[in-house]
Amino acid sequence: MYDLIIVGGGPSGASAGRTAGKRGLLTLLIEKENFPRYKPCGGSLSSYGLSCLDFKLPEYVIERNISKVRVHFRDRFVEGMKEPTMALLISRKVFDNFLLEKARETGIEVHTGEKVLDCIEKEDYVEVITTDNTHLGRFVLIAEGSGGTLKYRVRPRDKKTDYGLGLVSEIPDKYEAIRNRFPRTIDIHFGIAQGGYGWIFPHSGYYSAGIVGTAQYLENPKKVLLDFLQEKGFSGDFPVHSHIIPTGGIKRKSVSSRLLLSGDAAGFVDAFTKEGISYAIRSGQLAAEAVADLVMYSLKLSSLKAYESACRQEFGNYLAGSLKMEKVMHCFPEISFKLAVSNGEILDKYLDEVVTKRNYKDYVRWLLLNFCLAEPVSRIKSLTLEGTDKN
Ligand SMILES: Cc1cc2nc3c(=O)[nH]c(=O)nc-3n(C[C@H](O)[C@H](O)[C@H](O)COP(=O)(O)OP(=O)(O)OC[C@H]3O[C@@H](n4cnc5c(N)ncnc54)[C@H](O)[C@@H]3O)c2cc1C
Repeated sequence: MYDLIIVGGGPSGASAGRTAGKRGLLTLLIEKENFPRYKPCGGSLSSYGLSCLDFKLPEYVIERNISKVRVHFRDRFVEGMKEPTMALLISRKVFDNFLLEKARETGIEVHTGEKVLDCIEKEDYVEVITTDNTHLGRFVLIAEGSGGTLKYRVRPRDKKTDYGLGLVSEIPDKYEAIRNRFPRTIDIHFGIAQGGYGWIFPHSGYYSAGIVGTAQYLENPKKVLLDFLQEKGFSGDFPVHSHIIPTGGIKRKSVSSRLLLSGDAAGFVDAFTKEGISYAIRSGQLAAEAVADLVMYSLKLSSLKAYESACRQEFGNYLAGSLKMEKVMHCFPEISFKLAVSNGEILDKYLDEVVTKRNYKDYVRWLLLNFCLAEPVSRIKSLTLEGTDKN
C-alpha cells in the first residue's frame, strides 16, 4: 500500500513526486510514456514558474533567456521589456525529463511505459488499475494533463466552451539566425486566432510557432496555423501538433475523498495566455503537501480540502482574472487588440501587474478606468501608434 500514487509524470506529477518524496511519503509515480517524450508546447517558463522550483535549472535545460516581448496587431506592434528575465524558453522533452529525475532523486518509485486505466475509490484506499498491474494507494493524485478522462472520477465532464486549443510547429533554423531575428525577444500576434493569438518563440536551433484560441471559435485551426506560418515567412512542410488546453478558471472541483487533481487535469491554466506549466508545478506541490500533512498528522479525510483552499489562495484570483480578460478579448477583439498595440503603457502595466505581480484584478480595473470608462472613443483615438511591423 503506497501513501500516494501519482498518475502522470509531466510538470505537475513530477513536482508532486518530488514534494512527496521529500516529505517521506511512500510514493509511486506512473507515467504512460517512456521519457524523454515529446510534448506539444511553446516551452515558455515564466519567472513565477521558475520561482516555484526548489532547485536551479542547469544550463543545458535553458535554451533562451527572454527579456522582451513584441506584441503585434495587423501592421502595428509595441514592445515591452522586463530585465533580467521575463521567461525562459525550454524544450519540454528535456525540461520534463529533468523534473522527473528531480522527483526520482528523492527516492520515490517511478514506473514509465505503464498506463493507468482506472482509479477506483474504496473506503480505506484507492485501487489503481494499469496496463501492467493493480496498485493500492491511500491517496491518488491525477496529474494526467488535459487529454485524460480519469479526472471525471472527481468532477463532471467539461463543456467545449471550457477548452482552448493549441497548435504548434517546430521550425529548424541556425542558432545565430534565430538569435539575430529575435534577440531575447518573443513575438505575440493578435488577430490570428479569433480572440486568441499566434506566437513565435526563438528556441535553440528551432522556432516554436503556434496558435492558441478558444476551441469553439477556432474553425479549421490547422489552416489558421499554416496561413500564419506562411505570412511570417516560414514556408515548408512542418509537422503540426495540437492539444486541448483547459481554460475554465478555478471553479472546478479538484478533490474527492481520496482523489486529487492537479495541473491541466484540474484546469489550472491562465485562460488568456494559456500558461499552464507554472500552475501545474505549484498545484502538484500543494497536492503532495496536503496528502503529506494528512498522512503524517493522521488528520481527517476532509482535511484534503485544504488543498483546494491553498490553490485558491495562491493563484485562484489570478486564474479567475485571466478568464475575465479572455472573455473581454473575445467580446471586443478589434478594440482590445488595437488598444493593446496602441500604447506602450498598456503593455508595461501588463508586465508589471500581471507577469510580475500575478494580479489581473488591478490590471483590468486600471484598464477599465483609464481606457474604457473615461471618454473611451476620444482616448483611443488619441493613442499614439508606437511601431510599424516590418515582417
Ligand atoms: C500548443 C500548446 C502550447 C503551450 N505552451 C505553453 C507555454 O509556452 N507555457 C506554458 O506555461 N504552458 C503552455 N502550454 C500549457 C502546458 O503545456 C500545460 O499546462 C502543462 O503541460 C500541464 O502540465 P501537466 O503536468 O498538468 O500535464 P502534462 O504536461 O500533459 O503531463 C501529463 C502526463 O501524464 C501522462 N498521462 C496521461 N494519462 C495517463 C495515464 N492514464 N496513465 C499514466 N500517465 C498518463 C502523460 O503522458 C503526460 O506525460 C501549452 C499547451 C499547448 C497545447
